[in-house]
Amino acid sequence: MEHCGQTPTRRELLTGVLRYVTLGALGAVGGSVFAKRRRLVQEGICINHGICRGCEIFKQCGLPLALSEKQVLTIMDDE
Ligand code: SF4
Repeated sequence: MEHCGQTPTRRELLTGVLRYVTLGALGAVGGSVFAKRRRLVQEGICINHGICRGCEIFKQCGLPLALSEKQVLTIMDDE
């Protein structure tokens, strides 16, 4: 544990550095996965095997399958 007003020990310093390096790596991996999914959709490639229901990007997706699903849902809502 870090002591108030005292210089951290080597172990505390290494633990802190490791913590932030791990957090940074997790953020980088999450960001790259998000960017890859976004790029695939922009290229017209479905990221969820064509299963729009429950797809995390359904609302933003402009692929033909998603547009068709949205049209069906709109028709069903109108009835
Ligand atoms: S919303 Fe549908 S078409 Fe778009 S990525 Fe998801 S599953 Fe594929």
